[in-house]
Amino acid sequence: AKKPTKSVRKTGKARQAPELSSPGKLLFPDNGISKQSLADYYSAVMDWLLPEIRDRPLSLVRCPSGIGAQCFFQKHATPGFELVSLVPVTESDGGSEDYLAVTDAASAMELVQFNAIEFHPWGSKVADLEHADRLVFDLDPDEAVAWKDVIVAARQLRDFLEQAGLQSFVRTSGGKGLHLVVPLAPAAPWERARAFSQAVAEAAREMDPLRYIATASKQKRKGKIFIDWLRNGRGATSIASFSVRARPGAPVAMPLRWEELGKVASGHAFDIRNVPARLKRLKSHPWEGIEKVRQSLPD
Ligand code: ATP
Ligand code: MN
Ligand code: MN
Repeated sequence: AKKPTKSVRKTGKARQAPELSSPGKLLFPDNGISKQSLADYYSAVMDWLLPEIRDRPLSLVRCPSGIGAQCFFQKHATPGFELVSLVPVTESDGGSEDYLAVTDAASAMELVQFNAIEFHPWGSKVADLEHADRLVFDLDPDEAVAWKDVIVAARQLRDFLEQAGLQSFVRTSGGKGLHLVVPLAPAAPWERARAFSQAVAEAAREMDPLRYIATASKQKRKGKIFIDWLRNGRGATSIASFSVRARPGAPVAMPLRWEELGKVASGHAFDIRNVPARLKRLKSHPWEGIEKVRQSLPD
């Protein structure tokens, strides 16, 4: 008998992804990228993407008529999904809402069939929603900030976190900035995660007020980098590594080794066209070892 492959669950066969409708629809009209090209990309990188999004509540950016038309950010479940799991989540007002979660490649591809371009996971898993196992420090540079200074900021924040006993990992956002990702094991209650993240952003601002800002104000951001710590609250999300962005050129959020950061030209240097080749070239995951890191927030 044939050996079961990794994707075969103990309970049965691997599920089949739904058939793709309107494969020729141009989702990125200026770049000639069709829904089929998007599905081909996600199939090609699924082994890399799935560990980043699986078993977490997932928000989506869906663009049913492509990025030139209206896209929407979807947090809650809507009718029509057959493979995607529904996760009941108690919201701050006390009510319960169903969120979406993928468990396998087929359910992720069902979201692509529904014109999902971007995947935004929570920093906690469905099995333990109330504890953050990943923090994200999102570096948001004002447009006047040079890219090399964004890199300097990322390294400074890395060193700062290291002094607090925390190892961090870096990725391009697929947009203007970089994200530092901090794995937490054991996971931390959201309240602590949020307080710590705010304290880090404020400490950086105090250290170098000409370079950093810790509040979201666009006016005060002129020439500075906002250390967006607000990603680290219950229900907040950030873009998943390997997700495409619904922006011109179909950029991709890409994990990097710290040593290669200096060679990366911008936050959107990686895109749907050059990522598959990069992944084939890589000898190991840029974040190799992240799942083995054991570290928790300092007091
Ligand atoms: P950039 O490098 O360009 O800043 P980014 O992904 O970090 O790219 P931000 O605007 O800094 O973009 O962060 C937005 C984050 O906020 C997203 O990652 C997303 O998870 C979350 N988010 C929450 N609500 C929304 C919404 N309505 N639309 C888009 N993003 C949202
Ligand atoms: Mn950002
Ligand atoms: Mn931000």
